[in-house]
Amino acid sequence: MATSTTPVVKVLEPATEELLAELPQAQIEDVEEAIARAKGAFPAWRAVAPSDRAALLRRFAEAIEDRSEDLAKLETRNVGKPIADARDEMGMVVHLFHYMAAAPERLFGKTIPVAGGIDMTFREPLGVVGLITPWNFPLWLETTKVAPALAAGNTVVLKPAELTPLTALEVERIGRDAGLPEGVFNVVVGPGRTVGERMVVHPDVAKIAFTGSTEVGKRVGQLAAQSIKRVTLELGGKSANVIFADADLEQAALSAPSAVFGNAGQDCCARSRILVERPALDRFMEVFEKAVSALRVGDPLDEQTQMGPLISAGQRSTVASYLEDGAPIAFRGASPEGPGYWFAPTVLCPVSNDDRVAREEVFGPVAAVIPFDDEADAIRLANDTIYGLSGSIWTSDGGRALRVARAIDTGTLSINSNTSVRVNTPFGGFKQSGLGRELGPHALEYYTELKNVYMSTG
Ligand code: NAD
Repeated sequence: MATSTTPVVKVLEPATEELLAELPQAQIEDVEEAIARAKGAFPAWRAVAPSDRAALLRRFAEAIEDRSEDLAKLETRNVGKPIADARDEMGMVVHLFHYMAAAPERLFGKTIPVAGGIDMTFREPLGVVGLITPWNFPLWLETTKVAPALAAGNTVVLKPAELTPLTALEVERIGRDAGLPEGVFNVVVGPGRTVGERMVVHPDVAKIAFTGSTEVGKRVGQLAAQSIKRVTLELGGKSANVIFADADLEQAALSAPSAVFGNAGQDCCARSRILVERPALDRFMEVFEKAVSALRVGDPLDEQTQMGPLISAGQRSTVASYLEDGAPIAFRGASPEGPGYWFAPTVLCPVSNDDRVAREEVFGPVAAVIPFDDEADAIRLANDTIYGLSGSIWTSDGGRALRVARAIDTGTLSINSNTSVRVNTPFGGFKQSGLGRELGPHALEYYTELKNVYMSTG
């Protein structure tokens, strides 16, 4: 309950540094109330007939689609991402709600032949699910959790990042208007250390689905372990874009900027280590430089813009610190003057895989180009990281493409492409990039518990 002394969350517009919104900051009692509402709504929501739950989720998806241009503009202003990217994300949000709306009617169990009777399995909802999300793809990452959680019959409490809570609040309203029952979908806006942690330790929360940094993910995992709470973690990455000399170099180099500077580099899938086979290095750098200088960096609301600002002044100083370690700057792209958390796309070359910029997730528009000698060297370098989220392989040799794909320890790989995420295919990390999978048919396993029932036929 907000009073005149309630602390506020100030939401800024990264392209202008101006205040975009001011919201009351949730306190512990607010998160307790949200969890109680979700707990109260669970028995009725799990009992809704699968076809009715599916129909409601479809109506929710259609209502979001009707508002998608407004949501895209709001996301653009709040995150600083180009409007064209925000529109793509809204398209994926709507697609994912529709995809998951089919799930309530397809959550099949199995029958298993056993002695003296019949054995059946059921997929049961978990109860109240707590969702904690970051600021880089706010509504998209929220949807990767909300859509399967609701489809499987759970109720949810979502805590978006404080920097970017606006579209989540809007979608909560849209859900209410579309007919989601009271208490099924709740949003609380507050700090991770208090509100987030309360969700993680709360006895009435059955599962936490977290996307964020590996550091905070470890803490969430530790706290959740105290009550054996179910947990899925989508964490950081330091993915490799592996370019062999036999690849279509032109295509690899022209596509590399979006793979590392998309969302201003604030992308867990960013291919921020570009591994290039030595004989191809000069040609690759020549085309890559032209492509980076042609990147349109500027006003996120301009239809032509390809890269916006960073999310905050703090993020800008963190990113800048990676240019002070001594790795040579090969070239930089453009960035506007004036207010806004701008940072020019920057390419470092040659970088050693032992340099800090190659070991840590920069989360900004800084690419490290690392030359390699042969296939074995490429695999060794690609795997020499604590992370394993994403990556790409560029080669014209089909056998090599699959050999290397099998050898790299990462959750999502693209061959002759830099795309990572699809609504209907699984996504998640190896190693310290996470635990569990989102998207695709597998996602539902992480929002249900497997129950086994035996019935005697004797
Ligand atoms: P973050 O870890 O700082 O915060 C993420 C969320 O956790 C926020 O909502 C925050 O308030 C909350 N939080 C912070 N401390 C908490 C605590 N002690 N207990 C509970 N909740 C807490 O991450 P960020 O800076 O918002 O986002 C950037 C990170 O997210 C990067 O590391 C990036 O790679 C990662 N990320 C991963 C994926 C993926 O799918 N693997 C996708 C996007 C971003």
